[in-house]
Amino acid sequence: MKLSKMYMPTLREVSSDAEVASHKLLLRGAFIRKSASGIYTYLPLGYRVVKKVEKIVREEMDRAGSQEILMSAIQPKEIWEASGRWDRFGPEMFKLKDRNDREFCLGPTAEEYFTTLIKDEVRSYKQLPLNLYQIQTKYRDEKRPRFGINRAREFSMKDAYSFDTSPSTLEESYMEMYRAYEKIFDRLNLDYKIVEGDNGAMGGSKSHEFIALSETGEGEIAYSPSGKYAATSEKAKVVYEIPESESPRELEEVSTPNLKTIEEVAEFLGVEKNRCLKAIDLMVREEPVVVFIPGDRELNMSKLESYLQTPDHEIELMTDEEINSINSAVGFTGPIGLDKNVKLIFDESVTKIDNMSIGANREGYHIKNGNYGRDFSGEVCEDLLEVKQGDIIEETGEEYMFARGIEVGNIFQLGTKYSEALDATYLDENGKEKLIWMGSYGVGVTRSVSAIVEQNYDEDGIIWPMSVAPYQVIITVINSKDEEQMDLGEKIYSEFLDSGVEVLLDDRNERAGVKFKDRDLIGIPLRITVGKRAVEEVIEYSNRRDKEKEEITVKEAFERVY
Ligand code: ATP
Ligand code: MG
Ligand code: MG
Ligand code: MG
Repeated sequence: MKLSKMYMPTLREVSSDAEVASHKLLLRGAFIRKSASGIYTYLPLGYRVVKKVEKIVREEMDRAGSQEILMSAIQPKEIWEASGRWDRFGPEMFKLKDRNDREFCLGPTAEEYFTTLIKDEVRSYKQLPLNLYQIQTKYRDEKRPRFGINRAREFSMKDAYSFDTSPSTLEESYMEMYRAYEKIFDRLNLDYKIVEGDNGAMGGSKSHEFIALSETGEGEIAYSPSGKYAATSEKAKVVYEIPESESPRELEEVSTPNLKTIEEVAEFLGVEKNRCLKAIDLMVREEPVVVFIPGDRELNMSKLESYLQTPDHEIELMTDEEINSINSAVGFTGPIGLDKNVKLIFDESVTKIDNMSIGANREGYHIKNGNYGRDFSGEVCEDLLEVKQGDIIEETGEEYMFARGIEVGNIFQLGTKYSEALDATYLDENGKEKLIWMGSYGVGVTRSVSAIVEQNYDEDGIIWPMSVAPYQVIITVINSKDEEQMDLGEKIYSEFLDSGVEVLLDDRNERAGVKFKDRDLIGIPLRITVGKRAVEEVIEYSNRRDKEKEEITVKEAFERVY
């Protein structure tokens, strides 16, 4: 592309609401323009970067076996009502009505939509696992849109959804996505940490966030220097370490007792019989075993399964009504939870069941890939432990490290939350109807662009990593009125074009200073300057990051670029 023809209205100054470097530089470098609060246009340069990010995301998703589709950005209200999220999403959801008063939303995410898509056509275990993704514009009426495209109200997200027959195959699908995300963010050249996440509005049992480190990030994370542990600070509170050899797969194979009688169950659970007899009775006698847990049921279901699954018993989820009727029948007033020894306890004081398989099971304490009692032990503590600067991780003697960062990706094990709400089932090998186990996986495509800039700029502008640079090379002709300089510039330009190099030619009739400023600002990685020595076919070669200049021949320049 020739800059004389390009729509690249760079700016020397931007309005004061651009607080952070990425916002300022993307505006100044003519990558984006604001059209309303949190709503942006991508100009030619910016859109090229977005497409580069999309390409990397697509390649890694495809390689991981996910298949790309495209669903509408408009989603019907009914499916969101079925999951209970029409109301729960709150004011962040953009809602709209058609001419017949039918209600829709502009999709902020698409768990319900994808589940609805596959549920009638995926009938058999033979069609699973399945993983579908899209790169689609998402809409969230953020309370505080800020930092340009970092927290926008309209943004591009890659969202993927996996459908599995069991928690263990879900774990495999999840880990496949985990590894694909590592590749994506490596290729985006981001310096990031993977942290245990908060499940927030998604529900489910396990999640990780991919956090691009940046002082301007809105998220805070705590981690151990040895790299064994990281979590968002509201969740983070590592205390224990587990043997490195223990992979999640091995941990899942932990044998669980085969409980046949009420007595065995009671003993195993260590609960007072008179308090829980009826519940246990239900558990052992019903076929399949019934476990009822109020609150975040998916979270507990997947964790319970790994403990209580026996050859003779299966666990099934119950509806709220069923739980309520059993509760009132057996006279329980409080919620039922699990404590650290895998007891079923019926205790009014237990309000949250947390971290059975990943944590030390005291509020705020988490262990990655460990099982309580087998991999670690510890005291139960009711209080939330706050981690402060200077605190020591008792077991390892390490001091907590803290960092700020930008959430660029988030993966979740959803369990059966959405398949239950939307009735997405499959028939297993025995022709038995079962709920599909789901995961969801998001990458902030446009947010990644701003995160990359936050990590790659200097006082003169952006320094794009090659993998996402809008163009790889920029040729600056110092004096475009000089025929020899222009001829050489054009010659190099067309040779690069012929060999597929993405190249810009600054042929504008501007002062050299203006051209240099712009090329620094827009951050093209490799630069060729055609000046006085054009006759000898000697050019000045430099790269954006260190700006070291070298005079080399055109021939050498080609060799460097290829
Ligand atoms: P945040 O905590 O920043 O509000 P989130 O946890 O609500 O993000 P998810 O629902 O996990 O976001 O969505 C998946 C990904 O979409 C996020 O990891 C992020 O990269 C991106 N994303 C979410 N909200 C926005 C937004 N307002 N603008 C740009 N990207 C966003
Ligand atoms: Mg959010
Ligand atoms: Mg978040
Ligand atoms: Mg998130």
